[in-house]
Amino acid sequence: MSKKILILPGDGIGPEIIAQAMKLLETLKHDFDLKITLEQGAIGGAGYDDCGHPLPEHTLKLAREADAILLGAVGGPQYDSLPRELRPERGLLGIRSALGLFANLRPAILYPQLAGASTLRAEVVSGLDIMIVRELTGGIYFGQPRGIRTREDGQREGFNTMIYTEAEIERIMRTAFDIALKRQRRVCSVDKANVLEVSELWREVAERVSKDYPEVSLSHLYVDNAAMQLVRAPKQFDVMVTSNLFGDVLSDIAAMLTGSIGMLPSASLDANGKGMYEPVHGSAPDIAGQDIANPLATILSVSMMLRYSLDEAALADTVDQAVSRVLAHGLRTGDIYTEGCERVGTQLMGDAVIEALRD
Ligand code: NAD
Repeated sequence: MSKKILILPGDGIGPEIIAQAMKLLETLKHDFDLKITLEQGAIGGAGYDDCGHPLPEHTLKLAREADAILLGAVGGPQYDSLPRELRPERGLLGIRSALGLFANLRPAILYPQLAGASTLRAEVVSGLDIMIVRELTGGIYFGQPRGIRTREDGQREGFNTMIYTEAEIERIMRTAFDIALKRQRRVCSVDKANVLEVSELWREVAERVSKDYPEVSLSHLYVDNAAMQLVRAPKQFDVMVTSNLFGDVLSDIAAMLTGSIGMLPSASLDANGKGMYEPVHGSAPDIAGQDIANPLATILSVSMMLRYSLDEAALADTVDQAVSRVLAHGLRTGDIYTEGCERVGTQLMGDAVIEALRD
């Protein structure tokens, strides 16, 4: 049966990079028998321009009906002075919470051809392939009570609550273990169980869930040590699973190990495998409309969509290998350019990946 994919180009470089992903999806549909239908919607600043809201009703309806969503990026300086509830980011937050996308997958992969782009020594990061699974809809970012209040002594104090139910921990653990089954079968759960009760429960549930996955090994690290290990010896990790707050920080550390924001895809999944896929970077208004943005993070987001929502692992491998071959041929957009390589623009990079699908 044909799967419905909703395309949300968004703002800035969004439409340019999404155009490359759409060319790829059309090729997969016509030449590789991928059964999909594509629809488009407006979100972010584009949604506001279209109908006065960053998440138009119509877009949300299409999103609910879709099997998977591919998003470019949202935001731009022209929207910065809008009231908070009309800003482009509200569109993103709104769609994530409306669809219950609780699992954020952030791979950090360093293609050996790009090892020079990392600030770490090539031998430390070359061939790096980590998947960070971050809980996205719970924890301290949403816990109640929260606020700023005045104490009896007149001092003001700010407070938040880090809270997780067993059910919330269990479902993110299951996502991490399921992913590990498709990889090297190692899960490292990151917490702060030496200090926080919420982490004690986190660890207990992780151990319990791991009993259902005898083929996967489970280890635990405190978050401070995990941050250190990520920059000391990152290749020791396969899947890391952690809470919203810790994942926010660790996924950015892991991203920087790879050196280029233009190469990093992401996925946010619900309990049934439906997902929203998007590059990690923003709308890059400084380079929008110039045909110089790197489309590979978006193309790799398509690969994640094939793997995690469309059950097309073989096609996902084909796309990943095509990207790898294009890099091996020396093609580079400006953000990953090094001397001796061939500098290409957004469209040529997109074309090259499609060409390399058949190599
Ligand atoms: P950004 O990621 O857009 O850009 C940071 C830097 O990286 C810029 O110099 C940009 O030119 C470069 N860059 C980003 N993507 C690139 C690509 N594909 N190829 C080559 N270079 C690339 O972050 P920012 O400048 O902080 O934010 C710009 C806008 O994007 C803001 O409005 C922000 O709110 C929004 N934003 C959106 C998302 C999202 O949609 N998920 C994420 C982050 C920021």
